[in-house]
Amino acid sequence: MSATRQPQVTVLAGPTAVGKGTVSTYIRDNYPDVWLSVSATTRDPRPGEQDGVHYYFIDRDEFQRLADTGRMLEWAVVHGKNCYGTIRDKVQAAAEDGKHVLLEIDLQGARQVKASMPEAKFVFLAPPSWDELVRRLIGRGTESPEEQQRRLETAKLELAAESEFDVTIVNDDVRRAADELVGLMGLAPHQR
Ligand code: 5GP
Repeated sequence: MSATRQPQVTVLAGPTAVGKGTVSTYIRDNYPDVWLSVSATTRDPRPGEQDGVHYYFIDRDEFQRLADTGRMLEWAVVHGKNCYGTIRDKVQAAAEDGKHVLLEIDLQGARQVKASMPEAKFVFLAPPSWDELVRRLIGRGTESPEEQQRRLETAKLELAAESEFDVTIVNDDVRRAADELVGLMGLAPHQR
């Protein structure tokens, strides 16, 4: 009899523009033992984003259907606008494949995963300082000034939740932060 494998899940959360995406993409591209979850979202793709690679871009009806039928491990409305969620079956399939699962999600999602999978590792990615976070958000230039303001409000709330996490990693350097994170997953750094 083959027992269902218990997923080894690490949740990476942290405020907007802290570099969660860059750190987790670096890990995806350099650590074949890690499977970075591809979330479903109702937001529109940004230039260069591909369906099934960066996100599954779906409409609200489809998202609602997945949520209503229990297919989401967690989901949330992020920055008061679009829905984002982790598809349960895909996490399970990666775990069956022997992969370490990395979820790059927001604070609301992290809390839901904590409720259903308390054995997962919860990692908070922090900026070196508030000023640096503001600089990164404005510098990447992907959001309108109104959207930047909204994201900074959310960031304040998210920074206040740092103590809910098992460990904090400061993203002062992407590679260093990524290696620290994979070390927490029990993997040797610099796996390629
Ligand atoms: P963006 O629109 O910039 O790609 O992502 C916005 C936010 O949504 C980020 O903070 C990211 O962590 C969060 N996010 C991405 N995927 C998920 C998900 O599956 N669930 C939750 N709860 N948040 C997500």
